[in-house]
Amino acid sequence: MIMNLVILESDLEKFLKKMDSLNKKLRKFSSEIRIISHKRGFQLFETSTVDINFPVIEYFLEIPEKNKRENTEFLGTLSFTSGVPMVFSNTDKYSIHELYKENSVCDHCHTSRDRKKWFFFEENGQIKQIGSTCVLEYFGIPLEGILGSFDSEMRAFNLKKVDIDYSSLDEKEMESFKKYFLSSNSFIPASQILGILNYVTNGFSKGWEKGEEGTSRIVKNTIFNPMADAELRKVVQKNTEYEAQIETIKSYWTYKSTYSNDFEFNIYSNLYSGTTFNTSVPYKNIGIVAWAYWKAINNSIKESTSVKEKSEEATSEFLGNVKERITIEGTIKFIKSFPTSYGYNQEGESYLYQIITDKGIAKWFSSKDISHDIVWKEGVETDESGYPLDYVKTVDRMRAYEEKLKNEGVKVTLTGTVKYLETFKGQKQTTLTRCKVIKL
Ligand SMILES: [Zn+2]
Repeated sequence: MIMNLVILESDLEKFLKKMDSLNKKLRKFSSEIRIISHKRGFQLFETSTVDINFPVIEYFLEIPEKNKRENTEFLGTLSFTSGVPMVFSNTDKYSIHELYKENSVCDHCHTSRDRKKWFFFEENGQIKQIGSTCVLEYFGIPLEGILGSFDSEMRAFNLKKVDIDYSSLDEKEMESFKKYFLSSNSFIPASQILGILNYVTNGFSKGWEKGEEGTSRIVKNTIFNPMADAELRKVVQKNTEYEAQIETIKSYWTYKSTYSNDFEFNIYSNLYSGTTFNTSVPYKNIGIVAWAYWKAINNSIKESTSVKEKSEEATSEFLGNVKERITIEGTIKFIKSFPTSYGYNQEGESYLYQIITDKGIAKWFSSKDISHDIVWKEGVETDESGYPLDYVKTVDRMRAYEEKLKNEGVKVTLTGTVKYLETFKGQKQTTLTRCKVIKL
């Protein structure tokens, strides 16, 4: 009989010890369990927030079937532990619990009594229910002692048989799973750690906090929080930015092979295997890895902000002196309009425009609808009295410019008089009056 078993890599030593002690017993019957093959790999567990990869070893074992009965197959056992029936199936052919005959008669000694454990066999097509004390005599190998251990202890190693939905553990179940998880050398995809970090540090902008309630602890707890809210799950699972984030991390922690201290060594040995960047994170080292991720991305955010600030500073100059008539070239944009009164009983609208030039920014408050000026500057065919020949088309052109002014703006050259200069949020602004578009 071939048995397929998947064990945690961290259970390997325990597993081999168990095999050894079983084989010691079996050798007394000139038999043994033989390892046919084994293969290393990963098994994925999905919790409510993250995917966890456990390093596992898959074994194919040959379980002895040496017995003194021909044409007899061992099917499995039914035991009553504290009155609760538990089955161990050695076959897919039957459901063991359905084979149980309530009359409690052993098909070997034909006596009837309550037993803690029954063994089931198929002999020449007939199902045999054998009491545990008769198994050795009936079958030949002390299955009570040997397969009984397989039933309980070996199955503890077999992850394939552990049929748990990890995505819906309650808090208590998660606690025990966490212990199991911590004892193994497991990994979590970098993309999901980045998703959690993004959430916890408000898009990597928050500072890294140390201590009991620090960022590292929050990240770790979030992984195992079965009550993690739907928003977090969405953020973590739909983290589409992670590829760009990984590039940022790689360029901050550029691969190198000499390190100035232990801390740096530990960072690099977690981030890289050889020269290859690791796309999964060992759970045990999440603290340092999360920090290294955060450091790289937080730094790039700071840099891009300071570059932006610098570029704004560079173009923040006053465009002239008060009362000076200046000519500027730039993009004029409509900012907003507000009602104004022009003296006695006259009401109208006033517009605020902004002109962005290479040197700096100008503001202009005006009662002029600049789209009108622009269209006239562009050229309008008129009759002798100066009235547009195609009035509808002219209005349409003005409407189109109004839209453009609200969006990307219109490139113009205009003259205007500097009314006053002011600094607003660190930016030098020149306020103009009596502007005139002189060129488009
Ligand atoms: Zn019996």
